[in-house]
Amino acid sequence: PWNFSAGPSAMPEPVLAQAAAEMLDWQGSGMSVMEMSHRGEHFIQICSQAEADLRELLAVSDDYAVLFMQGGATAENAIVPMNLLGRVSQPKADFVISGIWATKSHQECQRYGDAQIAATNAVATTIDGVHQAPFTWLPKADTWRVRKDAAYLHLCSNETIGGVETVDWPDMQALGAPDVPLVVDASSHFLSRPMQINRAGMIFAGAQKNAGPAGLTMVIVRRELIGHALAICPSAFDYKNVDAQHSMYNTPPTYAIYIAGLVFKWLKQQGGLAAIEQRNIVKARTLYDYFDQSAFYTLPVHPSVRSRMNVPFFLCNTSLDSAFLKGAQERGLMQLKGHKSVGGMRASIYNAMPLEGVEALIDYLKDFERTHG
Ligand code: PLP
Repeated sequence: PWNFSAGPSAMPEPVLAQAAAEMLDWQGSGMSVMEMSHRGEHFIQICSQAEADLRELLAVSDDYAVLFMQGGATAENAIVPMNLLGRVSQPKADFVISGIWATKSHQECQRYGDAQIAATNAVATTIDGVHQAPFTWLPKADTWRVRKDAAYLHLCSNETIGGVETVDWPDMQALGAPDVPLVVDASSHFLSRPMQINRAGMIFAGAQKNAGPAGLTMVIVRRELIGHALAICPSAFDYKNVDAQHSMYNTPPTYAIYIAGLVFKWLKQQGGLAAIEQRNIVKARTLYDYFDQSAFYTLPVHPSVRSRMNVPFFLCNTSLDSAFLKGAQERGLMQLKGHKSVGGMRASIYNAMPLEGVEALIDYLKDFERTHG
């Protein structure tokens, strides 16, 4: 079957095969990685190799810490303000509302300080005479209102539910707020392409889309931003503690880190992120091109901000939705139901989804259109 789940999602098969082969005995150690102490030499080797490979893939320089944490991106919605709001005299942060995930981040930050909206797409608009529903377009960066004394500006660079992607991360200098670090929730397109790490003060991502199993959160944070946690910040979530202990302040999600490490190796074998990006471009273009020429399906998102990873689509005749999903499942095309807040369908086509899977989906889309159109 082809798995179009938004996450946890399909994993690269060679990674699963290697994990299966090593399950009982990791490289002659006589142990499963699951059984290893996080303080032992084997796991320390696994973890530092994973960090080194991640740094290499994303070209992360030494002025950033790479942390392996827990709690998912949802916990980061609280961990980020608890770590960063203390940098400025008045705890305040600004948010670009691009969809449901950015909205959740904004709401959570309100518990810790003054969280303002710098720009929002939570309203309908008209672009080039075409109506765009809320959360299906993006306000241009030159309209964002960022406070110069904000502790950070939050951006969700790929809205998994709405299918809206910001490929070019903003340059804070150009936004007139050079001292405000950009914080990026990159969860659902992390490692799908090279990323402009240097434009961001920090990036976080849950692993369960492109990087490995649920339970691991990756945090890349400029070191100068570390060390200002609010007094209420739990010590296990203070980046200073996590960094000082090389992600082992408390027991890390060892098995998830091991699997993520195998994914990083796999990505390097594929030619790195530039090569993966080319594949992702072809996959997304193939799927969007099919939808664009069809009058049977519609795409809600404005073409300029369509996500390469998450493709929401609708059947024009929504009374056919359940027949569509039933038929898809029978063909082994799994998890195509859209998020309940959006309705319709969504195909998530992360790194592990080959072009072949996208073509199988298009074959079905064509057949369904022919038999029901
Ligand atoms: N941010 C984005 C962009 C997401 O897609 C998700 C989950 O799908 C989250 C945050 C929340 O992540 P988690 O469930 O790991 O807390």
